[in-house]
This record gives sequence, C-alpha cells and structure tokens, in this order.
Amino acid sequence: MSKALFINIAGQGHVNPTIGIIRELIDRGENVTYIAGEEFREKIEVTGAKFKSHKNFDMSNNVNKNLNLTNNKILLDAIRNLNLTNNKILLKVISTFKEIIEIVFNSNEKFDYVIYDSTFILGPEIGRVLKIPTISSTTTFGINEAILTNILASLQFDKFKEILKNSDYINFAKDLQEKYDIKFPGNPSEFTGKGIINIVYTSTYFQPHSETFDESYKFIGPSIIDRKESIDFNLENKENKKIIYISLGTIFNNSIEFYESCFKAFKDMDVEVIMSVGKKIDINIFKDIPSNFSVCNYVPQLEVLKYADVFITHGGMNSTNEGLYYDTPLILIPQFADQPLVANRVAQLGAGIVIEKNEATPEMLKECVGKIFSDNSFKINSGKIGKSLREAGGYKKGVDEILNLKNTIM
Ligand code: UDP
Repeated sequence: MSKALFINIAGQGHVNPTIGIIRELIDRGENVTYIAGEEFREKIEVTGAKFKSHKNFDMSNNVNKNLNLTNNKILLDAIRNLNLTNNKILLKVISTFKEIIEIVFNSNEKFDYVIYDSTFILGPEIGRVLKIPTISSTTTFGINEAILTNILASLQFDKFKEILKNSDYINFAKDLQEKYDIKFPGNPSEFTGKGIINIVYTSTYFQPHSETFDESYKFIGPSIIDRKESIDFNLENKENKKIIYISLGTIFNNSIEFYESCFKAFKDMDVEVIMSVGKKIDINIFKDIPSNFSVCNYVPQLEVLKYADVFITHGGMNSTNEGLYYDTPLILIPQFADQPLVANRVAQLGAGIVIEKNEATPEMLKECVGKIFSDNSFKINSGKIGKSLREAGGYKKGVDEILNLKNTIM
C-alpha cells in the first residue's frame, strides 16, 4: 500500500471528476490524503480519503463578465477573462498556494506520489523536492506547452510577464524558495503544471489539437460515477414528447432574465422542460411558470441527461462531457473561463450550437432548438463524441495509469 497526496485548489468542477479516481485508488488498496477547500470535506471523506483543508478562494467576483465571442478569438477571450493580474485575486491565489505548501511540508506523513489539479502549478516542484512522481489532473481540455505558448505569444505573454514582475509574487517566490526549496515558475511556458503523467478527463477525439500532446497525456474521458441520485418527476412516460434540459451550472447561474427567456421560448412548444436554476435563486420569484416546465434548484443531472433530447448549457466542461456522454446535442451559452473554448469545440464537431450570452433571446433559443430537432446530424455528431468519451476508460483507466507509473518508478 502506498500513500498518495492529492491537491486541489479550485471549485466543484475541479473536484468532482477526481472523486471516482480517489475511490478507485482506495478500493485498490492505496492510502489517499486529499487537500482542498473546506467545502469539500464531506465529499472527500466519504470516499475514505484523509482530508486536510485550506482556505479556498472564490474566482466568481474576479472575472470580466463582458464576454464577447463575435470576434472569433474565442480562446483568447477565455484566457483574457480570467483577470489574473488583478492584485486582489493574485494575492488570494498566492496565499492559498503558500498555505498548501506549508500543509505538505509541515506534515509528518511521507507521500509516495503526488496528484494535483493542473491549476496548482507548484505540483511539479513538490514532486522534485520530495523526490516523488507527479501526476496532474486536468478537468478542462489539456493545455500543453505548445498551446500555452501559442496563446501567450499571440496576446497574453505580456500579461503573464506582468504577474512575474509583481512584488507580491516576487516576495512569495523568494520565501518559498528559502524555506522549502520550491521554485515558482520563472517563465510563462512553465505554467502548464505538467507532471510525469497528465490525466485529462476528456477523449482524444474531443481534445482540440490532440496531435500536439505527447504520450504523457492520458485522455481518460469523464469520470462518470453513480451519484446515487434519483429523479422525483417521471420522464419515462414522456416518450412522445421531446425533453429539453436547461442548466447554467453552479457558479454563474443566477440570470433571471435568461430563465425567463426560456419560459417565453418554450411555453407554447409541445415539449417538457426541466430547468435547474441553481441554489442561489428562490424559485418563488418566478411568476407564471409555464405548465410544461419543472423548475428546480438542483437536478440529478446525470439521470435527466439519459432522457434529454437537447441540453441547453453554459458549456462547463463537466456538463458538456456529461451531456455528450449520453449522446445529447447541446446548445451552449458560455459564461466565462474555458466555456467559450469548450462550446466552440462542440460546434466545430457538429454536436451543438453556440449562442453568445447577450444574444440568448426567446426567439434565438426557440430557433436553435428547432434546428437541433430537425437536423439529425447534431444527434449523430454528439453520439460520435459520446462514444469516444465512453470508450476512453474513465476513472479505472486513470487509476491503471497512476499505478503503472508508481510500479515503474518505485
Ligand atoms: N449539476 C447537477 N445538478 C444541477 C446543476 C449542476 O448535478 O442542477 C452538476 C453537473 O452534473 C456537473 C456540475 O454540477 O457535474 C457542474 O459542473 P460544470 O463544470 O459543468 O460547471 P460549473 O458549475 O463548474 O460552472
């Protein structure tokens, strides 16, 4: 039995896909210590892993919300959207990184390998200093050096250089190096956090520019596990009606205007609509919910997707993977971060349609649903991606790769 150290710094979307991996590692006799924000304690502890918490930071107040996708620079917009040079967010990120390093280096535990979310870019350094193998866990599309430097070279290079010149960053880097021999990246191309192996929760087919990734990248597909949730409305008897499922995920999901546009768009259509509005909205504020709508704060998404004919989503990587895993065509309304990139890739492979956030009018929504229902190619193409995701191996393959690495190196 070996000891794995798992490090995560971000939100639900980064933690959820790792749950299957931890459970499987533990089932195969490994011992796991998982460091993440306190909000994930319960979720992690039920897997049997030992949990240690750090103060998580919330990115949702620090992004540029005026996303514009019309200029065809979707990838760049996605990166630009993360307002990383904002001093406040930079300080929060830095202090979380520091806290994690202190937890790791002040622990009496001796770890045999480290697995870290790819956004925790000090992961490779922990491996180097502790002389243990490193495994990155990437919950969005894989980002390799070629992709990162292309993006940076075209626009963002200066922004990353600004970070490297920031005095807080410099002091933090100096402190970590003196105390723990941890070196913070001195070059923007090192921001990929590449490990000896790199687990990516998508398929080679769905990954953009997959030919530029070396053997160390393991595309294992989404980690779909039984969440032991059931639906309390009956969808099986709705066979003669098409089902539309709508969710904007768990972060930027409080656009009342958008939900009301959905009411207007679909109230007169012969469809059933399941709509998740997230936990921040009091459903009572909606007057006159159309009779063909079920509006909920939370929906057992994996169960609903088995029945949905179209999924209107914000294009979060998890929701997108989950929709496609069940061969469901998508209408994507990206809100921020990597969502435009994900949405664009879905459209590129013919499995869905992208609507810019400001253009999601009732007419546009209705028109796009009409296109999806009348053109079977969307279903065929989502099925192609779905097959690639189901065949990628999931968390079992991820754990095979981790244990292979461990057995080869140790
Ligand atoms: N989710 C769910 N029910 C809901 C809303 C969301 O189960 O009513 C889950 C969904 O299955 C997915 C996650 O929440 O696994 C959302 O992750 P995603 O990356 O799509 O978006 P984020 O919330 O991170 O923006």
